[in-house]
Amino acid sequence: MAKIPAVLIFGAPGSGKGTVGAKLAATTSLKHISTGDIFRGIAPSSESGKLLASYSSKGLLVPDEATVEIFGRFIEGLVNTNKVNPDKDTLLLDGIPRTVAQVKLIESVVDVKHIFVLDIKDEATIVARLLNRAKIEGRKDDADENVIKNRLKVYKESTAKVLGKYSKSIISRIDGDNTPDEVFCDTLSAYVKFCKSANKSAKAKKPAKKVSKKK
Ligand code: AMP
Repeated sequence: MAKIPAVLIFGAPGSGKGTVGAKLAATTSLKHISTGDIFRGIAPSSESGKLLASYSSKGLLVPDEATVEIFGRFIEGLVNTNKVNPDKDTLLLDGIPRTVAQVKLIESVVDVKHIFVLDIKDEATIVARLLNRAKIEGRKDDADENVIKNRLKVYKESTAKVLGKYSKSIISRIDGDNTPDEVFCDTLSAYVKFCKSANKSAKAKKPAKKVSKKK
């Protein structure tokens, strides 16, 4: 399978990745892929479902091999059913890679072109957002403050290191403390800027057309 171009939406739990990701995919041609959503879509009674829940319910990361295998199979399914065309589409990855090991492991499937990081300064904002989301979406891992604390710890100790594996030149930082509309518009602007610059370099790389002289 050809590598699929991808942009990442990156940030701590509760930073707004899922909301911005869904809005961005609804507004652009990006295909939003959230590993959290993929995992929640697996039957809880299946072997995989039980394995995933044993980690996510505690706020821990699912082991890298299982994560990347499920992610790889999901993407392959999208390609095989023509929902994603590796030659034309760009994926918007939300929730992966989440460890330094995953950065390498996903390299055979996707080619990361740009990263949007949603920065939240105050941890209390994150906790309040997640507790509120628990009431709306009923996610168990959002309802328990100890689980939230674990997820934030994992983000700081493990996931944040992922950014160090990519060139600073492909990273756009967005102020996630702003209103949802502002965060979305800032991310969209950063995406448009990325598209224009990618387009410009693609054009510059194209060999100039030969002008045939009229006889
Ligand atoms: P999310 O919806 O992105 O907050 O993900 C919910 C849970 O799924 C996380 O707390 C992890 O347990 C698990 N998960 C999602 N993505 C990954 C990943 N890339 N690596 C490991 N675990 C993940």
